[in-house]
Amino acid sequence: MLQDEIPSEMSEPGFSEPRRPRPRRASMNIFGQLTTIVAVSAVLATLFTAFTPLGLLPGGLTEWVALQLSGSNAGGGSFPTPTPRPRPVIGIVAGHWGNDSGAVCSDGLTEVEVNLDVATRVQQKLTDAGFDVDLLQEYDDRMPGYNALVLVSIHADTCEYIDDNATGFKVASSLASSAPEKAQRLVACLSNRYQTATGMRYHPASITAHMSNYHTFNEIHHDTTAAIIETGFLNLDRQMLTQNSNAVADGIASGVLCYIYNESATTPEGN
Ligand SMILES: [Zn+2]
Repeated sequence: MLQDEIPSEMSEPGFSEPRRPRPRRASMNIFGQLTTIVAVSAVLATLFTAFTPLGLLPGGLTEWVALQLSGSNAGGGSFPTPTPRPRPVIGIVAGHWGNDSGAVCSDGLTEVEVNLDVATRVQQKLTDAGFDVDLLQEYDDRMPGYNALVLVSIHADTCEYIDDNATGFKVASSLASSAPEKAQRLVACLSNRYQTATGMRYHPASITAHMSNYHTFNEIHHDTTAAIIETGFLNLDRQMLTQNSNAVADGIASGVLCYIYNESATTPEGN
């Protein structure tokens, strides 16, 4: 082995020129490595000097970290502490509000005024129960992508006399819901609590495709559980809707709370 190496260097001096690049390449590699090390050092140095003043900034980050730590200790929870969660939001739509009158009675009573009265009462009751409640118009600017725990749109049926069966309420959920079982539970809760609060009967025969495909259902965020309630017929149920709107609102608010707190409720027949 050694014998092979010695002769090869000694016996081929003519090849010494082409071989020069070899050691030169080696030294270039070393130089290259040095350059890299210097470059990396420079970057690290820059990062270090950039980072140091940030850490020494008065208040700011340091204060924030201290707050996070104290918050974590106070709560006894695990670090990192998530940012405080906003209070759950509930959306209540006063049907037709801001758009049109809805159904109109011969004496001038409008559906929209009945809806708004009920919706305002529902908002108050749910606010009292500790929730943030948005009172929304029929085509509210906030509606596209609206994200809430629950959304309920409040309407009332025609003021025309149809027949003696045109009385009672009905509830429908969105066909476009991402969680149909949740929407169904909201319907069950609303129907059950509304019936209890008002003593009105469920009017299952008249759930229309218009209700299930209600425009709002397609505008809101698909995670928002939503339902529409027709609180009654303005003709035969007028007294309940106008003289006893507190009970009407109670039924809707209780239905929303039933859903939120996962209380049991049976789905009315025919729904
Ligand atoms: Zn309506």
